[in-house]
Amino acid sequence: METLAFLGLGAMGYPMAAHLAKHRPTLVWNRTFAKALRHQEEHGSRAVPLEEVAEAEVIFTCLPTTREVREVAEALYPHLRPGTYWVDATSGEPEASRALAERLGEKGVVYLDAPVSGGVAGAEKGTLTVMIGGPEEAVERVRPLLFYARKVVHVGPVGAGHAVKAVNNALLAVNLWAAGEGLLALVAQGVSAEKALEVINASSGRSNATENLIPERVLTRAFPKTFALGLLVKDLGIAMGVLEEEKAPAPLLRLTREVYEMAKRELGGDRDHVEALRLLERWAGREIQ
Ligand code: NDP
Repeated sequence: METLAFLGLGAMGYPMAAHLAKHRPTLVWNRTFAKALRHQEEHGSRAVPLEEVAEAEVIFTCLPTTREVREVAEALYPHLRPGTYWVDATSGEPEASRALAERLGEKGVVYLDAPVSGGVAGAEKGTLTVMIGGPEEAVERVRPLLFYARKVVHVGPVGAGHAVKAVNNALLAVNLWAAGEGLLALVAQGVSAEKALEVINASSGRSNATENLIPERVLTRAFPKTFALGLLVKDLGIAMGVLEEEKAPAPLLRLTREVYEMAKRELGGDRDHVEALRLLERWAGREIQ
């Protein structure tokens, strides 16, 4: 049975690596090493120093951006063995990942961009969607090892997974913000947000924002921290990069990026992404209730 390795035990990586450890011997590494030791204790993985993850046949990464993936790849570079597969679950940059795939390829390591969607809840349940970019044979080689996924779609060559993920998250940003604007206007008209959502969620304006995020996190005022606002702003930047590379018309997504940049400046990038609606609430002088 092949050995796997997982680097980056953050909000997503920690539960994702737990699914791997249920099925294969799994090495784990995290910058704050105490988390790796806790993972070993809780999930039967093995916490190792960074160089040792090169012993695995398949290395997984889930780090904030492609920059950190490049950093760990450089640190690992002298230790990497030909025939290793690298599955990068980070929501990263298509262009930079193509360059990284080439660099790793010189070592005989096959890099695949395999970002995920479904949030922390999906990572815990093992129901994530994976959009994967890379050569067909490599995708088929790693597909049975994506134990944290319910759906895996091979979307194209290296970089395509990251491009799809960035556009997906740009749509999340649009839907969330637009729902916030609409609901605040309805609240001002005397309609409760709950009633408005009851209608919208049985009608054509519904989205994940109206069906899940706003009822569970805004109406309850719980605003749990699962996906940092700063990471969503990063994804909007990646999406704009893709659109600009193709000279695609994008007035709405450009504006969306601007409002989320503003929310990040006002609230801080560490806040949860749904808290962007707090900025709208501040402007409106009322809550989405
Ligand atoms: P977190 O901030 O929770 O975790 C980030 C991880 O990266 C931690 O393990 C952190 O280590 C590590 N890290 C940060 N900087 C460095 C560095 N310089 N060198 C090495 N390791 C580093 O992020 P998430 O788990 O939320 O997100 C990870 C990726 O998944 C991002 O690309 C994000 O966009 C994407 N994503 C997130 C979703 C979510 O709902 N949260 C959903 C889908 C995708 P340490 O513990 O030491 O800080």
